[in-house]
Order: sequence, then structure tokens, then C-alpha cells
Amino acid sequence: MKILSVNAGSSSLKFQLYEMPEEKVLISGLMEKIGSKDSFYTIKVNGEKVKKEVELKNHAQAFEALVEELKTNNVADSLDEIKGIGHRVVQGGDYFDKTVVIDDEVLSKIEEFSSLAPLHNPAAVTGIKAAFEVFPNAVQTAVFDTAFHQTMPKENYLYAIPMSWYDEYKVRRYGMHGTSHKFVTERMNEILGRCDTKLITCHIGNGASISAVVNGKCINTSMGLTPNAGLIMGTRCGDIDASIIPYIMEKTGMSPKEIDNALNKESGLLSLTGKSNDIRDITAGIESGDENCILAHKIYVKRIVDYIAKYYVEMNGCDAIVFTAGVGENSINTRREVINRLGSLGITLDEEANDVRVEERLISTKDSKTECWIIPTDEELMIARDTLELI
Ligand code: AMP
Repeated sequence: MKILSVNAGSSSLKFQLYEMPEEKVLISGLMEKIGSKDSFYTIKVNGEKVKKEVELKNHAQAFEALVEELKTNNVADSLDEIKGIGHRVVQGGDYFDKTVVIDDEVLSKIEEFSSLAPLHNPAAVTGIKAAFEVFPNAVQTAVFDTAFHQTMPKENYLYAIPMSWYDEYKVRRYGMHGTSHKFVTERMNEILGRCDTKLITCHIGNGASISAVVNGKCINTSMGLTPNAGLIMGTRCGDIDASIIPYIMEKTGMSPKEIDNALNKESGLLSLTGKSNDIRDITAGIESGDENCILAHKIYVKRIVDYIAKYYVEMNGCDAIVFTAGVGENSINTRREVINRLGSLGITLDEEANDVRVEERLISTKDSKTECWIIPTDEELMIARDTLELI
């Protein structure tokens, strides 16, 4: 059975077509810079990668290009062979705690939660509507970034703010990257051979979050109402003193939109280094003695360690710490710096094992009190698995 995974970001659209349950990728693609004149996309099929520079004015056009690629690459005799389409949706609020089949009611709920994810949910809605037109007979599912975190207890999702903000505006911790945290949790438990585990899953990419997972269920996570909470990220500040916002607004006259932009797009590693949000550049900077890069990486690593330590204590121990996503899978020095700061918990790094990129591997020593693993994430596959299960 063929299942399509669709992941519409604020200005991108990623897709993979799978043969399920074999989990074989038939074609994949990434459309970038949607909405700008220099938009382009790359398609991978039969081991070949092709880049096409095409103007994609909006997500509806991106979806049309996706369908054209499915047709021209002959990955199916007919589009009717595609029996399921799984859509990644960033914000499912406190309403969706699992993947669901999309109907009118689900769609309007997703639209309702757009105010909590104004850049992402509308893009997903466009993709869903376009998919309904092209694939009227396929089962469409919504896979929520927030769903995995819905098992958090109230003590971990309530903020100490006026309760009317929670009651009227649903201001609470939701958490994101749930599909990835779920994927690595399931894989880690499979490797450990049991489900009664305590895990700390570190999804560290350009956006980053850490979760505490007990018996396969999330009990805490570092992102909050929005993705700009918790860790220091590529361009996001993560946790800061909330009063900085009104203070700077008063001092500079910045609007809510401008300050939101500054904290989401002009902060994090980018502002600390003064030059890049990419760990590859920062590692090169560290190697050449760039003081800003050295300091930025120290602050970045320290925040990751703070969260691991916090969740270790909260869970009263931990069976395994998992590193995943762009930085977690690739950055040898970031993993080394993080794990080397966990010595007081009896956690020790196997330097040689850690010298690897994008490979599932145990990277702690045999006598480490907690195992540390790299597990490459695969959100698209998780979406396809959830969709297959619902079909
Ligand atoms: P993601 O958001 O998961 O795609 O992660 C993207 C980030 O991963 C980039 O901004 C880099 O900081 C990091 N990254 C990707 N490849 C490498 C690499 N080979 N070495 C170190 N960091 C990497």
C-alpha cells in the first residue's frame, strides 16, 4: 500500500511516498522558500537527486508541483494507488492527543489552533485541502507535533501566570517535535527490549527540544506554548526572563511582531556568535579560536545539560539519553561537551564510539550509569506508520 507523508512548514514542504508496510521510500522531495521568487525544490527518486528552480507562490502551488512529480516519475500506475496521506500539523492544542483521520470537524479544529501556530497550521490546512481535491478517496490523517506531549501532568504544563490566560486563551505548555520524540522513544525501547523505561530524548536541530519520557509517555518537555522556549536554538532565544520583552518594547518602541521576530529569528546561536546559527560554522570557529563561537557553544551546551539534569532528577534516574536531529546526529563536539558535563551522574562518553555521524549507535562507555545513544530520527516515517495504523 502506498502512503504519502506531507510535512508543510512555514515556507517549505517536505514529502515522502512510501510502500508500506515495507517502509520503502519510492520518492521524496523538499520544496523550499515557498512564497519567495527564488523558491526551488529537490526530488530524490531511484537514488538520483534533481534540483528544479520553479517559482512556488504558495503552498497550494507547492502541492501541485508535488502531484506533478508523482505523476511524471511513474512511482505509481495511478494516483488511486495512494491509499493514505499523513499530514504533519504543528499545533493540536489540548484537543488532539493522537493521530486522527481528518474530517470537517478535525479540519476546523486545526484552523482554530492557527492562532497558536500562525506560521505553521495555515500551511498544513492548505496542504490538507489540496490533498482532498487531488486524492478524494485516500484516508487523510493529521499527525500533531503536540500530541505526544499531551500526557504531561498539569504540574508540568501550567504556567504561574494569571489563570484567566489559561482559561480564556489556552496559554500553557504544549511542546513540539512530538513526532520525533515519539519515533526515537519507540526505537530506544525496542533496543532496550522493554517499555518500562525512563528516557531523556534530545531533539537538537536548528529548532531544539528535550523531553522526559517515562514508560513511553512524555511527562515533561522543554518547548512551551510556542517553539521559542527551553533550549538555545539556531536563531531562537529559548528560556528568557519574560520581563525583557516589555522592557525592550518600551525602550525601542518595537511592536509585538517585531520583538517576536527578533527573539525567533535574530537570537540564539546567531546572535551569540554574531555570524552563524549553524553548528558546522561554529565548530570551525571554535577550532580557529573565535572567542564568540567558543562562548556561544558553552552557553548552548550548558542549557542542554541543565535540561538533562532537571529531567534526570524529575524522573529519579534515567535508563538512556538519546541524541537526534541535525546537531544531535551530526555534531561530535556538541555531544562530547554535553556528555562530559554529566560525569557527576556517573555518565561517561566512549570517545571513539562518539566519532560518528547519522548512525544509530551506543556512545557511552560500558560502565556508564546511563546509556547514551544516537538514534537518527525519521518524522516522515512516523507519519506514514501512524497513517497505516489508522487505515
Ligand atoms: P535540523 O533542524 O534537524 O535539520 O538540523 C539542522 C542543523 O544541524 C544545522 O543548522 C546545523 O547546525 C546542524 N548540522 C547539520 N549537519 C551537521 C554536521 N555535519 N555537523 C554539525 N552540525 C550539523
